[in-house]
Amino acid sequence: MRILIVEDEPDVARQVQVALCKTGYAVDVAFDGEEGHFLGDTEPYDAVVLDLGLPGMGGLNVLERWRRDGHGMPVLILSARDTWREKVTGLRIGADDYLAKPFEMEELLARIEALVRRGAGKASPELSCGPVRIDTTRQKAWVDDTPLTLTAMEYRLLAYLMHHAEAVLSKTELTEHIYAQDEDRDSNIIEVMINRLRNKIGANRICTHRGRGYQLTAEDDG
Ligand code: CA
Repeated sequence: MRILIVEDEPDVARQVQVALCKTGYAVDVAFDGEEGHFLGDTEPYDAVVLDLGLPGMGGLNVLERWRRDGHGMPVLILSARDTWREKVTGLRIGADDYLAKPFEMEELLARIEALVRRGAGKASPELSCGPVRIDTTRQKAWVDDTPLTLTAMEYRLLAYLMHHAEAVLSKTELTEHIYAQDEDRDSNIIEVMINRLRNKIGANRICTHRGRGYQLTAEDDG
């Protein structure tokens, strides 16, 4: 799952980025409204952390434009000004959640997790598909009750597949949702990682649909 942070305070941006990366997300950071708007307009994100007080284009303006242009990704707005009016305005123009600064990182992480989950239509932090299970709160995975050892990238890939179980996902979509902008992207790696995941969770669990992509499935005969 890939997250965008739009925040002009470098320390806050960095801390949120580090915390989200540790939680298994691919993370992009924009330090002003223009860049943030551009990224949200052109890249697919599973959630956005959007500061309201930004140089240039303000956060509310950024959000308003995204929503007007039909971008429905979950957005959590962040503000130093804890006024109920700003909160209401933000929610009315399409924010999904709100957090006032200063905030506890744990709370931000929990809220982002909930947004990402709801964005994918999931209610629980524990996702399962056949015998495969992941706990998105702790970034742990199991097959039946056997814990899996996954690299950070394998976890990202499995987490995206689990959020979209039974859907056929193209290599492009997978690449776009598990890599941040500044990470080396190579869609051939997806194939390699899919095969490594198959070795770990069972070959039948991930079907290849030629020319269309991959499908994580609960069906054994796939
Ligand atoms: Ca700010």
